[in-house]
Amino acid sequence: MTPGLIQVYTGDGKGKTTAALGLCLRAAGHGKRCEIIQFQKGSAYMGELYAIQRVPEIAITQFGWGCPRSALIRSGFAHCVNCGDCFRRNRAPENPWPRLGLAYASEVLREGRAELVVLDEVSYIMNRGYVTVDEVLSLLRSRPAGMEVVLTGRRMPPEIIEQAHLVTELFPQKHPLADGVSPSRRGIEY
Ligand code: ATP
Ligand code: MG
Repeated sequence: MTPGLIQVYTGDGKGKTTAALGLCLRAAGHGKRCEIIQFQKGSAYMGELYAIQRVPEIAITQFGWGCPRSALIRSGFAHCVNCGDCFRRNRAPENPWPRLGLAYASEVLREGRAELVVLDEVSYIMNRGYVTVDEVLSLLRSRPAGMEVVLTGRRMPPEIIEQAHLVTELFPQKHPLADGVSPSRRGIEY
Protein backbone atom coordinates (compact mmCIF):
# COMPACT_ATOMS: atom_id res chain seq x y z
CA MET A 1 0.00 0.00 0.00
CA THR A 2 1.27 3.52 -0.82
CA PRO A 3 1.77 5.42 2.45
CA GLY A 4 -0.63 8.31 3.01
CA LEU A 5 1.09 11.63 3.62
CA ILE A 6 0.12 14.97 5.12
CA GLN A 7 -0.14 17.96 2.80
CA VAL A 8 -0.61 21.64 3.66
CA TYR A 9 -1.76 24.40 1.31
CA THR A 10 -1.38 27.72 3.08
CA GLY A 11 -0.54 31.40 2.46
CA ASP A 12 -2.59 34.44 1.49
CA GLY A 13 -2.79 33.74 -2.25
CA LYS A 14 -5.81 32.25 -3.99
CA GLY A 15 -5.81 28.56 -4.83
CA LYS A 16 -5.71 26.57 -1.58
CA THR A 17 -9.23 25.20 -1.54
CA THR A 18 -9.37 24.80 -5.31
CA ALA A 19 -6.04 22.90 -5.30
CA ALA A 20 -7.46 20.50 -2.73
CA LEU A 21 -10.62 20.07 -4.82
CA GLY A 22 -8.48 19.41 -7.89
CA LEU A 23 -6.51 16.75 -6.05
CA CYS A 24 -9.77 15.02 -5.11
CA LEU A 25 -10.79 15.01 -8.76
CA ARG A 26 -7.52 13.37 -9.72
CA ALA A 27 -7.80 10.77 -6.94
CA ALA A 28 -11.44 10.04 -7.80
CA GLY A 29 -10.35 9.36 -11.37
CA HIS A 30 -8.41 6.42 -9.98
CA GLY A 31 -11.40 5.23 -7.98
CA LYS A 32 -10.17 6.58 -4.64
CA ARG A 33 -12.76 7.72 -2.12
CA CYS A 34 -12.40 11.32 -0.99
CA GLU A 35 -13.96 13.15 1.97
CA ILE A 36 -13.87 16.93 1.97
CA ILE A 37 -14.65 18.54 5.32
CA GLN A 38 -15.12 22.28 5.04
CA PHE A 39 -14.82 24.32 8.20
CA GLN A 40 -16.18 27.89 8.46
CA LYS A 41 -18.38 27.42 5.40
CA GLY A 42 -22.08 26.68 5.19
CA SER A 43 -23.26 28.51 2.12
CA ALA A 44 -25.09 26.22 -0.24
CA TYR A 45 -24.12 28.30 -3.28
CA MET A 46 -20.55 27.02 -3.55
CA GLY A 47 -20.12 25.46 -7.00
CA GLU A 48 -18.07 22.54 -5.72
CA LEU A 49 -21.04 21.21 -3.74
CA TYR A 50 -22.94 20.61 -6.97
CA ALA A 51 -20.11 19.49 -9.26
CA ILE A 52 -19.12 16.89 -6.70
CA GLN A 53 -22.61 15.34 -6.75
CA ARG A 54 -21.64 14.04 -10.21
CA VAL A 55 -18.55 12.30 -8.83
CA PRO A 56 -19.63 9.39 -6.64
CA GLU A 57 -16.17 8.93 -5.11
CA ILE A 58 -16.18 12.42 -3.53
CA ALA A 59 -18.23 13.49 -0.50
CA ILE A 60 -18.27 17.03 0.85
CA THR A 61 -19.66 18.19 4.20
CA GLN A 62 -19.77 21.76 5.45
CA PHE A 63 -19.46 22.85 9.06
CA GLY A 64 -20.35 26.51 9.26
CA TRP A 65 -23.16 29.05 9.10
CA GLY A 66 -24.32 29.79 5.59
CA CYS A 67 -26.08 32.57 3.77
CA PRO A 68 -29.88 32.97 3.78
CA ARG A 69 -29.65 34.07 0.13
CA SER A 70 -27.88 30.84 -0.89
CA ALA A 71 -30.64 29.61 -3.21
CA LEU A 72 -30.79 32.97 -5.02
CA ILE A 73 -27.03 33.15 -5.40
CA ARG A 74 -26.87 29.56 -6.55
CA SER A 75 -29.42 30.31 -9.29
CA GLY A 76 -27.53 33.41 -10.40
CA PHE A 77 -30.40 35.78 -9.49
CA ALA A 78 -28.34 37.36 -6.69
CA HIS A 79 -24.62 37.62 -6.09
CA CYS A 80 -22.43 37.32 -3.03
CA VAL A 81 -21.75 40.97 -2.19
CA ASN A 82 -19.25 40.20 0.56
CA CYS A 83 -21.64 41.57 3.19
CA GLY A 84 -19.70 39.58 5.77
CA ASP A 85 -22.74 38.21 7.65
CA CYS A 86 -21.68 34.57 7.31
CA PHE A 87 -18.12 35.57 8.19
CA ARG A 88 -19.27 37.29 11.40
CA ARG A 89 -21.49 34.40 12.48
CA ASN A 90 -18.68 31.93 11.85
CA ARG A 91 -16.31 34.02 13.97
CA ALA A 92 -18.63 34.26 16.98
CA PRO A 93 -17.10 32.71 20.10
CA GLU A 94 -20.15 30.48 20.68
CA ASN A 95 -20.08 29.06 17.12
CA PRO A 96 -20.74 25.32 17.60
CA TRP A 97 -19.69 24.22 14.10
CA PRO A 98 -15.91 23.82 14.45
CA ARG A 99 -16.17 21.24 17.23
CA LEU A 100 -18.88 19.37 15.36
CA GLY A 101 -16.64 19.32 12.29
CA LEU A 102 -13.72 18.02 14.30
CA ALA A 103 -15.89 15.22 15.71
CA TYR A 104 -16.96 14.34 12.16
CA ALA A 105 -13.35 14.37 10.95
CA SER A 106 -12.35 12.07 13.83
CA GLU A 107 -14.99 9.58 12.73
CA VAL A 108 -13.85 9.72 9.09
CA LEU A 109 -10.22 9.16 10.04
CA ARG A 110 -10.88 6.51 12.69
CA GLU A 111 -13.12 4.51 10.38
CA GLY A 112 -10.78 5.00 7.40
CA ARG A 113 -13.76 6.12 5.32
CA ALA A 114 -11.64 7.59 2.51
CA GLU A 115 -8.20 7.40 0.99
CA LEU A 116 -8.00 11.19 0.65
CA VAL A 117 -9.36 13.55 3.30
CA VAL A 118 -9.38 17.34 2.99
CA LEU A 119 -9.67 19.50 6.10
CA ASP A 120 -10.51 22.78 4.38
CA GLU A 121 -9.85 26.01 6.37
CA VAL A 122 -8.78 23.96 9.39
CA SER A 123 -6.04 26.49 10.25
CA TYR A 124 -8.74 29.00 10.98
CA ILE A 125 -10.47 26.95 13.68
CA MET A 126 -7.12 26.39 15.40
CA ASN A 127 -6.07 30.02 15.17
CA ARG A 128 -9.41 31.21 16.55
CA GLY A 129 -9.13 28.79 19.47
CA TYR A 130 -12.16 26.61 18.67
CA VAL A 131 -9.94 23.53 18.69
CA THR A 132 -6.34 23.13 19.80
CA VAL A 133 -3.38 22.38 17.58
CA ASP A 134 -2.79 19.26 19.69
CA GLU A 135 -6.27 17.99 18.89
CA VAL A 136 -5.57 18.29 15.17
CA LEU A 137 -2.15 16.70 15.56
CA SER A 138 -3.65 13.74 17.38
CA LEU A 139 -6.34 13.52 14.70
CA LEU A 140 -3.59 13.30 12.06
CA ARG A 141 -1.77 10.60 14.03
CA SER A 142 -4.96 8.54 14.16
CA ARG A 143 -5.22 8.22 10.37
CA PRO A 144 -4.83 4.78 8.82
CA ALA A 145 -1.58 4.05 6.95
CA GLY A 146 -2.88 4.59 3.42
CA MET A 147 -4.84 7.79 4.05
CA GLU A 148 -3.62 11.09 2.59
CA VAL A 149 -4.75 14.20 4.48
CA VAL A 150 -4.72 17.72 3.05
CA LEU A 151 -5.03 20.71 5.38
CA THR A 152 -5.80 24.13 3.92
CA GLY A 153 -6.03 27.66 5.24
CA ARG A 154 -4.04 30.79 5.90
CA ARG A 155 -1.54 30.97 8.75
CA MET A 156 -1.19 27.22 9.29
CA PRO A 157 0.28 26.67 12.80
CA PRO A 158 4.01 25.80 12.72
CA GLU A 159 3.45 22.54 14.62
CA ILE A 160 1.29 21.31 11.72
CA ILE A 161 3.82 22.48 9.12
CA GLU A 162 6.44 20.54 11.05
CA GLN A 163 4.46 17.29 10.78
CA ALA A 164 3.52 17.72 7.11
CA HIS A 165 5.36 16.00 4.27
CA LEU A 166 4.33 18.53 1.61
CA VAL A 167 3.80 22.23 2.26
CA THR A 168 2.82 24.73 -0.43
CA GLU A 169 2.55 28.41 0.43
CA LEU A 170 0.55 30.51 -2.03
CA PHE A 171 1.59 34.10 -2.42
CA PRO A 172 -0.80 36.80 -3.73
CA GLN A 173 1.32 38.62 -6.25
CA LYS A 174 -1.95 40.05 -7.62
CA HIS A 175 -5.57 39.43 -6.69
CA PRO A 176 -8.50 41.13 -8.43
CA LEU A 177 -10.53 41.27 -5.20
CA ALA A 178 -7.73 42.84 -3.17
CA ASP A 179 -6.92 45.24 -6.01
CA GLY A 180 -10.56 46.27 -6.47
CA VAL A 181 -10.45 45.13 -10.09
CA SER A 182 -13.38 42.80 -9.82
CA PRO A 183 -16.03 41.70 -7.30
CA SER A 184 -16.30 38.15 -6.01
CA ARG A 185 -17.41 36.07 -9.00
CA ARG A 186 -19.79 33.11 -9.28
CA GLY A 187 -17.92 30.07 -10.56
CA ILE A 188 -14.54 31.64 -9.73
CA GLU A 189 -14.64 32.60 -6.06
CA TYR A 190 -17.63 30.40 -5.12
P1 ATP B 1 -9.97 29.35 -3.56
O1 ATP B 1 -11.16 28.83 -2.76
O2 ATP B 1 -10.42 30.23 -4.66
O3 ATP B 1 -9.02 28.29 -3.93
P2 ATP B 1 -8.38 30.00 -1.26
O4 ATP B 1 -8.90 28.78 -0.63
O5 ATP B 1 -6.91 30.04 -1.55
O6 ATP B 1 -9.17 30.33 -2.58
P3 ATP B 1 -9.20 31.53 1.05
O7 ATP B 1 -8.09 32.06 1.88
O8 ATP B 1 -9.93 30.34 1.54
O9 ATP B 1 -8.66 31.31 -0.45
O10 ATP B 1 -10.18 32.73 0.77
C1 ATP B 1 -11.47 32.52 0.32
C2 ATP B 1 -11.88 33.55 -0.69
O11 ATP B 1 -11.05 34.70 -0.69
C3 ATP B 1 -11.83 33.02 -2.13
O12 ATP B 1 -13.00 33.44 -2.73
C4 ATP B 1 -10.65 33.67 -2.75
O13 ATP B 1 -10.80 33.93 -4.13
C5 ATP B 1 -10.52 34.96 -1.98
N1 ATP B 1 -9.11 35.32 -1.86
C6 ATP B 1 -8.05 34.49 -1.81
N2 ATP B 1 -6.90 35.16 -1.71
C7 ATP B 1 -7.23 36.46 -1.69
C8 ATP B 1 -6.46 37.69 -1.62
N3 ATP B 1 -5.15 37.68 -1.52
N4 ATP B 1 -7.15 38.86 -1.62
C9 ATP B 1 -8.49 38.87 -1.72
N5 ATP B 1 -9.26 37.76 -1.79
C10 ATP B 1 -8.65 36.57 -1.79
MG1 MG C 1 -9.97 28.33 1.04
